[in-house]
Amino acid sequence: MKTNKSVLVSGGTGFIGSHTAVELINAGYSVVIVDNLSNSEATVIDGIERITSQKIPFENVDTCDLKALRGVFERHDFDSVIHFAAFKAVGESVSEPLKYYQNNLVSFMNILELMKEFGRHNVVFSSSATVYGDADELPVTEQSPRKPATSPYGNTKQMCEDILRDCCAAYPVTHGIALRYFNPIGAHPTAIIGELPRGVPNNLVPFITQTAAGIRKELSIFGNDYDTPDGTCLRDYIDIVDLARAHVAALDRMTDGKMQQKYEIFNVGTGRPVSVLELVKRFERVNGVPVPHRFTARREGDVPSVYADPTLANEVLGWKATRDLDDTLRAAWKWQQSLA
Ligand code: UDP
Repeated sequence: MKTNKSVLVSGGTGFIGSHTAVELINAGYSVVIVDNLSNSEATVIDGIERITSQKIPFENVDTCDLKALRGVFERHDFDSVIHFAAFKAVGESVSEPLKYYQNNLVSFMNILELMKEFGRHNVVFSSSATVYGDADELPVTEQSPRKPATSPYGNTKQMCEDILRDCCAAYPVTHGIALRYFNPIGAHPTAIIGELPRGVPNNLVPFITQTAAGIRKELSIFGNDYDTPDGTCLRDYIDIVDLARAHVAALDRMTDGKMQQKYEIFNVGTGRPVSVLELVKRFERVNGVPVPHRFTARREGDVPSVYADPTLANEVLGWKATRDLDDTLRAAWKWQQSLA
């Protein structure tokens, strides 16, 4: 298979997309970013350029707009796509399901359609541990059953995985890897890029950093009566730079023609369960800053515990999470402080 080391990153100004763009460039890929800035800022492009000292071609296009996206395929000669562009607010997806199905499914189908039309080979899809739901056995492996999704958001991740599987089976040109992320946290160590939630953060770490910074009065810890060691939920927190590097490993595997099957799935986590309370305490300790918090009711849709068995990614992709959790929490705080 003829391949080139050029990659289209959809959603490349988002949290995971921007860090992945940096690691791809560091690994020698040339990157084109397509993003409609619906939940991000154009300044992120400047940040990526500052970190990498490279000019990044940027297309301000909605991936749901097939015609406009076709223009991107016509203008750039990439062989691979990493598809991040999607809505991700679980709660909003419950109140506005059509917005989520419309955006997340159409955008991915457009990417697959144009890859077929233009003969582009490889796509990495950003999936999520949410596809495992409330798993019967922990840690979860790629073989663990996918449980019925508990939100339209989770459903779009399952459906996009299935769409990718079917396209890889049907179209000779299409090769796909789905990466199932656990809980991405942290920021680039330079504090030039990081997570930029709009409004009140839904995710734990941005809420912690904003509380530490005095932007939020206190953190609500959702539930302390779970069947876990300290009663709070267990999650697998993965450093954003480690996560970004998993995409490079996946793409290397594809562009080197090493895939054993046309569609493969990998967990991207550390394998280490950490409780919500433990994470809060650890953040306070390593950064020397208090995070006022109290226990409140459980949040609907939260599973008590989920963490990865990352063995497959370790062995097959040669990828492993390496960043120390303390460093990750320091980077998150440094990033929050840089926003002041
Ligand atoms: N969480 C919390 N308070 C918050 C946000 C999150 O206690 O303000 C908890 C949430 O209940 C879950 C964990 O933190 O147990 C991680 O939540 P997040 O939304 O970051 O990711 P999820 O695991 O839901 O994808």
